[in-house]
Amino acid sequence: MTATQQYFPTEVAATYRDAGLWGTRTVADEFHAVAVAHPGNAAVVTGEGRLTYAELDACTDRIAVGLADLGLQPGDPVIVQITNRLEAVVAWYALLKAGLVPVATLAAHRGHEIAHISRAVGARAHLVEAGTRGTDLVAFAHEQAREHPTVRHVLVLGDLPVAEVDPTEARRRVEAIQRAIDPDDVAVFQLSGGTTGVPKLIPRLHAEYWYNARAYAAFLGWGADDRVGHLIPIIHNAGIVCGVHAPHSVGACLVLTDHDLETAMPVLVAERTTVVLFGHVHYRAPEHPLYPALAGSLRTVVLSGAKVSEELFAATGRDGVAVGQLFGMAEGMFLVTPLDASPELRRTTVGTPISPLDEVRLLEPGGEDEVPDGEVGELCCRGPYTLRAYYGINRPEAFTADGFYRTGDLAKATTIDGLRAFSVEGRIKDLINRGGEKISAEEVELLLLAHPHVVEAALVAMPDPRLGERGCAYLATDGTPVTLTDLQHHLRALDVAKYKWPERVELLEALPRTKVGKLDKLAMAADIATRLENP
Ligand code: AMP
Repeated sequence: MTATQQYFPTEVAATYRDAGLWGTRTVADEFHAVAVAHPGNAAVVTGEGRLTYAELDACTDRIAVGLADLGLQPGDPVIVQITNRLEAVVAWYALLKAGLVPVATLAAHRGHEIAHISRAVGARAHLVEAGTRGTDLVAFAHEQAREHPTVRHVLVLGDLPVAEVDPTEARRRVEAIQRAIDPDDVAVFQLSGGTTGVPKLIPRLHAEYWYNARAYAAFLGWGADDRVGHLIPIIHNAGIVCGVHAPHSVGACLVLTDHDLETAMPVLVAERTTVVLFGHVHYRAPEHPLYPALAGSLRTVVLSGAKVSEELFAATGRDGVAVGQLFGMAEGMFLVTPLDASPELRRTTVGTPISPLDEVRLLEPGGEDEVPDGEVGELCCRGPYTLRAYYGINRPEAFTADGFYRTGDLAKATTIDGLRAFSVEGRIKDLINRGGEKISAEEVELLLLAHPHVVEAALVAMPDPRLGERGCAYLATDGTPVTLTDLQHHLRALDVAKYKWPERVELLEALPRTKVGKLDKLAMAADIATRLENP
């Protein structure tokens, strides 16, 4: 059974290919073709250094051969925990050229997450970065590999094996590996933001994943002269699609920085960045003293993650910068505001789908009936880069009967200047969006319930000016008070990623419940919002 048959119905895949959307090459071969067309262009620039397409192509060929010589086989999954470094982009293409399948976990993940994911996917190797703040990821990876059923190699960023072969031989070896890979095989596993107790893996296939990036770049009108700034984690789906593959689909340059505006802004300015994606944590960028200098080279700013105020829209759009919005998800669907659309559409909506074969329906939550335009419904989508099935688990409830993915987000359709665009109006999925990192409430609640004194637990979103939301734990205990510090000790002992730890605790005798006996999360969310407003 090919991956296409498994993840996309065969006839659907054929439609996307016949329409010229899906290609016939692997991601590694797509990158190589662009590198051959634009050898002297800068492919990636960071504060640490820069590489042209020719350099990035050649060095990743030799590393790919080095990885193959370790005994890693095409199709082997590799857990990836790295941050926004030049070497991260090198490692990305080297893994793909070796036919390996990156599993895009986060550097912030710990044993609780990695142990589960690496077993679920049967990881053969674990790639980490040395010298990250706070945690020794190299030691962590070795610890995880001990008695692991499948992990055989710990790989370290910047110290990957480089084969001692000449460039022609390295290329021949990579081509031989790539020839055996079906473009509809899994290229990458992305992690779902997830609402359940266990993280879900999203299979991204070579042809559809590259198409997702190509369609995004085309929708925004990028060319080989563009210099695309990226500050949010590169390994996230938004990082790989918008930051790595999209610029590299057109011969443009990725200007990669870390998330801190203080270090990022000088690099973005010096590199004469033409396009930048700001996540919610960077909505303050226009207030930065270097923003006017950046606006001098910027053509486009894409905002993503939260509603855009009139002030933010105006401040970002100074000096003729075109401001737009992106709604995206690791499961696929991208909505983007066309840059030639009216300011009203670009400010008040997240735009339209980026592919002519994308389909969007707004449905009564949990049902299959469409809501009329102007009313809020669950955003459901289907199309040439939106998943049809998760990896390894059957989740029929995540899809409509005809294969539309139920996003769990609430949206509204409005027609502005003849264009039907969507605005995000909330969500029904139970997660916390902490500065772009998604925290599954259920996952954390189960962990909190494992605390010896906790009897009832609910994790609710509390508003935060910088991160958008943070987690607040509502707890009922057996009579022994539980403090935030107690919870931190508890979650550290369970080796849970820190961004999931609640940042406030409210102790109650008993948690509020709805008439049908379910935890009343809305009441608790309203309660914490009121408490924060009236401290
Ligand atoms: P991820 O898969 O981590 O990229 O997260 C996807 C989720 O992020 C979506 O389902 C939304 O809940 C949220 N999201 C993405 N873009 C936006 C946006 N522009 N506005 C509001 N929420 C967004």
